[in-house]
Amino acid sequence: MKKKALALTMAALMAASLTACGGSKPAETTAAAEAATTAADTAAADTSEAETTAAAKSDKVYKIATDTTFAPFEFENDKGEMVGVDLDILKAISEDQGFQYDLVVAGFSAAVTGLEAGEYDGVIAGMSITDERKAKYDFSEPYYDSGVGMAVTADSDITSYDGLKDKTVAAKIGTEGCAFAESIADQYGFTINQFEDSSSMYQDVLAGNSVACFDDYPVLGYEISRGTALKLPMDMERGSSYGFATLKGANPELVEMFDAGLKNLKDSGKYEEILNTYISK
Ligand code: GLN
Repeated sequence: MKKKALALTMAALMAASLTACGGSKPAETTAAAEAATTAADTAAADTSEAETTAAAKSDKVYKIATDTTFAPFEFENDKGEMVGVDLDILKAISEDQGFQYDLVVAGFSAAVTGLEAGEYDGVIAGMSITDERKAKYDFSEPYYDSGVGMAVTADSDITSYDGLKDKTVAAKIGTEGCAFAESIADQYGFTINQFEDSSSMYQDVLAGNSVACFDDYPVLGYEISRGTALKLPMDMERGSSYGFATLKGANPELVEMFDAGLKNLKDSGKYEEILNTYISK
């Protein structure tokens, strides 16, 4: 039910979106999807921590944007709460470092567009650290190794990119998966249907409109482990690591706090604990 409703909304948004992978869209279209949650109350300053920085004492409430459906990094649980590796890490770091933030569930391309427009102070959305992006954003230290993969329906006979000839594949606007699909589209002779969010992509493949989709490998793996009738016929392509991003030079103290907090989380075992909550070994 929920997925269908989301898919419909996203289909409507699609009509207004651009065709290029790196395409952005007007900020107004994201307003409806903007369900802000606050962690400010739970992120009360703990100035006794040795690693707490001076900036932590500021009253600033950072606006941090994330994706809508990108499990296990961010997704809505059965209770309608946004949870996931990214969000738990962010919350734990904010508590460790004593800064406050409002979470904006914007969608990936909207989060990045909003960051560029100065609407958000940071993005945590399974965002891959790439050289191209490093020119525009300041990234934290990498916190998770990932990469792009191709998924097809469980009963598909496609085993390689050769099977995509004259077919349509699904990809998500502004992502590494979309950029990868675009980079091989001519060579293998397929066209790309672009979506705003991962679940709409999966629905398009399951509905048979697209024969495959390109998304981050661990995210596809998680979706499949939850019973979605997709499979990964090939190994992971184009590896990358996720980082927390701010606009270049805009919030250096925030990146500093993220890195300091991440280190503390790793040292204390909390980071491992968060991963284990969502990802089985
Ligand atoms: N890791 C991918 C990227 O940065 C996808 C991120 C996402 O869809 N949330 O492009």
